[in-house]
Amino acid sequence: MTAACLFCKIVSGEIKGEIVFRDDQATAFRDINPVAPTHILIVPNQHIESVTALESKEEQLIGHLVAIAGQLAQSEGIAEGGYRLITNTGPDAGQTIFHIHMHLLGGQEMKYPMG
Ligand code: 5GP
Ligand code: ZN
Repeated sequence: MTAACLFCKIVSGEIKGEIVFRDDQATAFRDINPVAPTHILIVPNQHIESVTALESKEEQLIGHLVAIAGQLAQSEGIAEGGYRLITNTGPDAGQTIFHIHMHLLGGQEMKYPMG
């Protein structure tokens, strides 16, 4: 836990989040400012700043986040229609919270191309 980190505080329960999944490694909660009918953030319980800060021992953990996204897509009813997983990294990508997270977006046709 990093004291100033918003997502660490949501994971610990210090700040309220609409939590939709939790286990010993990861937590998923609804984005406060959704940009799609389903917009969920999936985060590791431990503080990792970004993809750039990842260590090789954390590879399994990141795979676990993707697997959770797949399960949530099913429970949210968006698996068949399709969905998008996004992890913004650094300023050019618009990362605003420096606790690694995956956006799960779905429930509408998404714009493409990105960038
Ligand atoms: P980023 O821009 O870093 O990829 O995404 C950060 C996301 O966190 C944004 O989509 C933003 O809406 C969301 N967010 C910011 N503050 C809060 C909060 O207090 N609670 C929740 N649930 N989401 C938040
Ligand atoms: Zn954190």
